[in-house]
Amino acid sequence: MSTANAYLTVRGINIDVVYKDIKNLHIGVYPPVGRVRVAAPERLDEDQIRLAVIQRLPWIKRQRQQLQAAIRQSRRELVTGESHYVWGIRHRLQVVVRPGRAHVELDGDRLLMYVPEGTKSEQRNKLLQNWYRQELRAQVPALIAQWEPIIGRQVSRWSIRRMKTKWGSCHRETGHMWFNVELGKKPPRCLEYIVLHEMTHLLERNHGDRFAALMDGFMSDWRTRRDELNAAPLADEDWGRAEAEARDQ
Ligand SMILES: [Zn+2]
Repeated sequence: MSTANAYLTVRGINIDVVYKDIKNLHIGVYPPVGRVRVAAPERLDEDQIRLAVIQRLPWIKRQRQQLQAAIRQSRRELVTGESHYVWGIRHRLQVVVRPGRAHVELDGDRLLMYVPEGTKSEQRNKLLQNWYRQELRAQVPALIAQWEPIIGRQVSRWSIRRMKTKWGSCHRETGHMWFNVELGKKPPRCLEYIVLHEMTHLLERNHGDRFAALMDGFMSDWRTRRDELNAAPLADEDWGRAEAEARDQ
């Protein structure tokens, strides 16, 4: 990234301006903190840049909020008081320190984590991941069994794993499927959508018209479920993908 040629403050937001030999003005909001950088054609003066930024302010603010939410999401210490989603419902974490085997359980709207003294946040995180994995393992078989006769194909093997950019994947030749452990945080209807989506790949590899038509036949509201799933970022969002850039017309 090149050094800024000018610094502006627009409505309390600091903006780095880089003049370039370009036709259009570009505004970018960059991770991790939502730094705003404008690449401006050399012909524009400061007032014109300021005006362009003001016009884009609602968008800039939205990008910054998303980045900040992603930071909050990724910085989990696994301490009492944090909220964690389980099957689409927010639960308050309560860490109970006591000797014995570490384990996690739901108790009404609380998510209880029992750990021996000295358990580090990294270990607590691993414990919670394993618990989500178990939750998913308990739900997936019934979904597969429900859809197999409808799809007319068998799922030979499936597993739960952490994936940074996908909710699920399917190896068509072997019939092996993977489901993202993060699905345990989403409403059960989203898991069902992903299971069905991956199983539909046993009939159609690509996401073209045929795939959409098959999905329409199986699950009329699949688009709503998909949008719900993608409304929030994956917890382990890769900063490169969070980067947003706008182009001024
Ligand atoms: Zn797919």
